[in-house]
Amino acid sequence: MNCILHLSTKKKQEQILSNERIETYLYNRQIKKDCDFNMWFFFPGPESFAMSSLGYLWLYRALDLTEDIDIERIYSDTKTTRLMRDRINVIGSSFTFDMDFLHILKFLEWNKYEFKAKDRKDSEPLIFAGGPVVTANPEPYKEIFDFFIIGDGEEVNIEVVNTCKIMKDKQKSEILKELSKLEGVYVPSLGQSSVKKLTKKLTECIYTPILSDKAFFPETFILEVERGCANRCGFCLASYMNLPIRFVEYEEIIESIELGLKHTNKIALLGAQITAHPRFKDICKYIENKIDNGENIEMSVSSLRVDSFIPEIVNTLTKAGQKNLTLAIEAGSERLRRVINKNLTEEQIFTAVKTAKDCGLKGLKFYGMIGLPTETQEDIEEIVNLSKKLKENFKEFDFSFGFSTFVPKANTPFQWFGREDEKSLEQKTNYLKKELHKLGIQISVSSAKWDYYQALLSRGDSNLTDYLIEVYKQGGKLGAFKKAAKNLGINTDYYAIENYSYDKKLPWDFIQIRPGKEFLTSECINLTGVHNPSKPNLPTHQNN
Ligand code: SF4
Repeated sequence: MNCILHLSTKKKQEQILSNERIETYLYNRQIKKDCDFNMWFFFPGPESFAMSSLGYLWLYRALDLTEDIDIERIYSDTKTTRLMRDRINVIGSSFTFDMDFLHILKFLEWNKYEFKAKDRKDSEPLIFAGGPVVTANPEPYKEIFDFFIIGDGEEVNIEVVNTCKIMKDKQKSEILKELSKLEGVYVPSLGQSSVKKLTKKLTECIYTPILSDKAFFPETFILEVERGCANRCGFCLASYMNLPIRFVEYEEIIESIELGLKHTNKIALLGAQITAHPRFKDICKYIENKIDNGENIEMSVSSLRVDSFIPEIVNTLTKAGQKNLTLAIEAGSERLRRVINKNLTEEQIFTAVKTAKDCGLKGLKFYGMIGLPTETQEDIEEIVNLSKKLKENFKEFDFSFGFSTFVPKANTPFQWFGREDEKSLEQKTNYLKKELHKLGIQISVSSAKWDYYQALLSRGDSNLTDYLIEVYKQGGKLGAFKKAAKNLGINTDYYAIENYSYDKKLPWDFIQIRPGKEFLTSECINLTGVHNPSKPNLPTHQNN
């Protein structure tokens, strides 16, 4: 039942009904009119995704609460805007996925802005971006934006917009010079030699400040329990981008949960490693007690680590309506799981499945990755062997697999490894599909072709701007990436497939992110045993 139906009349009055959408604001919103300073905050995706995007909505809230700034949310499917184009002073954009650039270029074109910052007039707004993609490597997009926010943007975002507001009558070059003095701000036109990534202490609990019936997770109160993951898998940007792992205080979390429950019964806890929270069991107990006392609460978590498949946690989740859970095992063999730093034994996987079954779950979905550095056919066969054993031991239990192919991410230990070639990935995928189907296990695999271009963007450099614009002009589909590369003579394999040596100067080296390149190098050697990825010494696809 839609939780809106449970809301009291008073709460209904708090809702704002506009353009057939129902939005509940969880903060004291002042309606602003005729402000001297106006901002568009662009989300490169449809409204449904934006309204379930915690980071985007939280930043919007902070700016919406700032006096004398009128801010409007714009999505890729926005048809008309409340604020007129000519009144806009600054445009911010979140950049969470590599392919977001297509939406961003479309937004610029629709609003008649030139694609490149240098071609836009001084009278037009400054346009900036923040988010994980540009924090890891902003170089492919450096000509498009006037500046970037590198790292956790909660505080600097407000400083940035306030600076733009105070200096709104000055020339862009002057404003940019001032902005570049702020830690975490990168202004490409000023040629900064290094930019420090911002890392925020989690002094408050961040949650979705607006509940919307149009959200991908409708009327769901999402809250961040922790940021980062201490596990440090060699390929994982979510972990390396957010070191050290930080936790929100238990009391803050409970206070936020109570706020959310005043407006909805759907709660989602977010964090790359939520169960690492020192009081995660207490949080579960708190929710479970409420359910036991008759409250109708639906709670979900993004994904659990194997060591958190313990009855106290899984029981709460099943009581709170979670029917299936996911477990990211990444690789089939213990050897490869050690190489990627997942360090997960088969015994642990079996114990987790048993706990899930004993607690009443009907099934489990595994996440895995194909084409990881040093992977061999034996590692792939181990996925099938593991599945056979699981099916034999847990007959009535539903297993499924979701695979993606390895994409090297800037600023991770595996950044020097290129992707396996498409043909070989296809062979492995077909093999897995065939063998797992025989076992009655459902399998989905991400598109290796799209993953290839993700890798290109992830390890891209400033030579790619014209290419990206051309890809957009050619329609932005897979064929456009290929055609644009041919037209402009771009060697896409150089970015996506080639292995790099550790001493290669990388385009994103100027971004200072802890733990730093030296650590990433030694970590990569420790994990893979490869002393020069461009000439690997292990039996791997990179030798082919
Ligand atoms: S456990 Fe998951 S979130 Fe943590 S580092 Fe590994 S892949 Fe990333």
